[in-house]
Amino acid sequence: MAGDTIFHKIIRREIPADVVYEDDEVIAFRDIAPQAPVHVLFVPKVDIPTLDALQPSQAEIVGKLALAAAAYARREGFAERGYRVVVNCNGDGGQTVYQLHMHLLAGAPLGHFGVP
Ligand code: 5GP
Repeated sequence: MAGDTIFHKIIRREIPADVVYEDDEVIAFRDIAPQAPVHVLFVPKVDIPTLDALQPSQAEIVGKLALAAAAYARREGFAERGYRVVVNCNGDGGQTVYQLHMHLLAGAPLGHFGVP
């Protein structure tokens, strides 16, 4: 893959991560600075810098991220209690790593969100 963010390095196993799920198209690992008791990042292996850069031909990968996150929530036993998935896009969206990723947050009642 062409990109060179920290997530690309994790995908290429150049830096370590606590990987909780992986298949041919998706990798999931724990966030290094968790914002909830459970905070896992679901990342496509194909190079997509932002949600804004997503092409119609790549739509399926977003569904695969969501399915992988939902399956993880069921497997870990918190699906019924609930969770939140978030995709930050560009600066005002709070994106800091420019490879598309879906945050999965869970493990406690989550507060409202918006402008801090
Ligand atoms: P963003 O702000 O782009 O939506 O989310 C990027 C996330 O990546 C942040 O929550 C941040 O804590 C996490 N992160 C940044 N660097 C690393 C790293 O080296 N390893 C892991 N596991 N997470 C990281």
